[in-house]
Amino acid sequence: MKIICIGRNYINHAKELNNPVPEKPVFFLKPETALLRKNHAFFYPQFSNEIHHEVELVVRINKIGLHIQEKYAHKYYEEIGLGIDFTARDLQAEQKKKGLPWEIAKAFDNSAPIGDFIHKDDLGDLKNLQISLKKNEEIVQNGNTKDMIFSIDRIIAYVSQFVSFKMGDLIFTGTPAGVGPVQIGDQLTGFIGDREMFSFSIK
Ligand code: MG
Repeated sequence: MKIICIGRNYINHAKELNNPVPEKPVFFLKPETALLRKNHAFFYPQFSNEIHHEVELVVRINKIGLHIQEKYAHKYYEEIGLGIDFTARDLQAEQKKKGLPWEIAKAFDNSAPIGDFIHKDDLGDLKNLQISLKKNEEIVQNGNTKDMIFSIDRIIAYVSQFVSFKMGDLIFTGTPAGVGPVQIGDQLTGFIGDREMFSFSIK
């Protein structure tokens, strides 16, 4: 399986990092080794001093597809979850400056914690989901999927022009504003609406 991540999918997040608002989805990949499940602790890596949290709605692909039309994209997923696209912001800034790929800042081991998945029918309107992240006792990120620049279906249609999907692939759909650093000892808890989707510590 692979993990496809969308960058800059909320205008207020693109602005907070001084990035232009994209005309097409921007995507990159993380390998399977990036997954961190079951609320296992995230161990702060040696190679960075600035690991940022990015809470994101996650879509699990349930069938093979290539060149999927947007109007049929909803048939390719049933389960929705929440995860974090951990980013070594210091390394990413260096790579961006040099115009180099982002993998060292994005694709490292355990950089993609995910929680439980829920059937989409149990969530209601996917274009109006509140997603939030609590760091210790403080809500640090709070967004609504209605503010996505590119919808889930649009993302699937776009990405599948280039990369075929397989069952079990995950799409991280981009983060709302409020990204920021984590420290050893922090507890990160993610919510869709009032539902707790994951909670794990930084060690
Ligand atoms: Mg992200």
